[in-house]
Amino acid sequence: MMRLKRGDRLVLASHNQGKLAEFQALLQGSGVTLLSAGDLGLAEPDETEDSFAGNARLKARAAVSACGLPALSDDSGFCVRALEGRPGIFSARWGGPERDFGRAMQRVHDEGGAALSADPSAWFVAVLCLALPDGRDALFEGRIDGQVVWPPRGSGGHGYDPIFVPNGDGRSFAEMLEAEKNVISHRARAFAAFRDACLPAEDRPGR
Ligand code: IMP
Repeated sequence: MMRLKRGDRLVLASHNQGKLAEFQALLQGSGVTLLSAGDLGLAEPDETEDSFAGNARLKARAAVSACGLPALSDDSGFCVRALEGRPGIFSARWGGPERDFGRAMQRVHDEGGAALSADPSAWFVAVLCLALPDGRDALFEGRIDGQVVWPPRGSGGHGYDPIFVPNGDGRSFAEMLEAEKNVISHRARAFAAFRDACLPAEDRPGR
């Protein structure tokens, strides 16, 4: 059992301001205060593991060792069956240093070729890791399944959203309102598992 208590401080092992705002919203009402790795001057480790869980754990453990506070991290990506799960942990890297996801989506289409037309199955994964100063950690995974579409559709979202249509909906993630995507997304599912297992049992937000 790794439940946090009201009044606990938690460091988010990410320098991404968007993620900070997203996690702050999740924790609202829980009595747990979220600090950012950037504000604490923590370095960002290289993601050298070969799985989402491995990279999430590496980021959380690096933060906990650097500041001695409980740390939360996340690692996520887009997986295409016809590409044997790629880009997967390389999802951000396929966008290149300039984060060009138009190019990354084109690469999915080009490398997928006939195999992708025959089987367009794809999924997003998010893994959260909570690591404690006593050496324990816990992982929470969320996944959403769907299909790759081509050409890209919609102007919302980010990353690979324009080429992903979740099962049970005709729209791509980029054609949905952010609030609609946030109810069903891989990250929302991982958040929910984390919240149920780790946030103070009473007054949990989102209930
Ligand atoms: P991370 O920040 O290392 O977890 O990298 C995640 C990468 O996966 C992002 O740069 C995106 O390319 C991709 N990704 C993760 N979640 C989503 C999503 O909800 N929509 C679109 N792309 C995503």
